[in-house]
Amino acid sequence: MIPDGPLVFVDIDTQRDFLEPDGALYIPGSEAILANLSRLTEFARSRGIPVLATACAHTSEDEELRIDRPHCLLGTPGQGRVAATAWPGTRVLQADETLTGDLPLHLTLHKHQYDLFSHPDADRLIALYDRDHPTFVVYGVATDYCVKAAVTGLLDRDCRVALVLDAIRAIDAAAEPEILTEFARRGILLTLTEVVCAG
Ligand SMILES: [Zn+2]
Repeated sequence: MIPDGPLVFVDIDTQRDFLEPDGALYIPGSEAILANLSRLTEFARSRGIPVLATACAHTSEDEELRIDRPHCLLGTPGQGRVAATAWPGTRVLQADETLTGDLPLHLTLHKHQYDLFSHPDADRLIALYDRDHPTFVVYGVATDYCVKAAVTGLLDRDCRVALVLDAIRAIDAAAEPEILTEFARRGILLTLTEVVCAG
């Protein structure tokens, strides 16, 4: 069960380059989570749950691309969200931009590095979301990189975190048990799409 109280959904990098078989940095088997991503997104839309959606938005100079294959280059179709998590009218915050005004219902946070907290406004934004002490419900890809960085960063800021096990995917599946064990040790809630959407 998700604890009673407000929720914030954190949709990590559910972009075409990661989730579609012809994507630039396709994560094998990741299409298996698409139906759950879609269900979570519909649930958020129908309940008015705020969504913070992160997105790699690289330029050819980004340091990350010296390690990983080029992916999610700004202006390419692969940088876009998959249909399952797309949100028409989302407020896109560029990688060097500060949000002015209130938090929108759906915020797309562009970033040059895999860690969402590499965005200069991320700390402040998370503090704003955390004002009502919600549960941050995290899903997306990849468990062993961007998801791990997001969950770790939220825990470091004393946020309450739930991770949706059937809506995440690792690049290296063998790395997953150790990561999940460490998260559980730090007190996050491991949950499933149908449990979240039953709330
Ligand atoms: Zn990236």
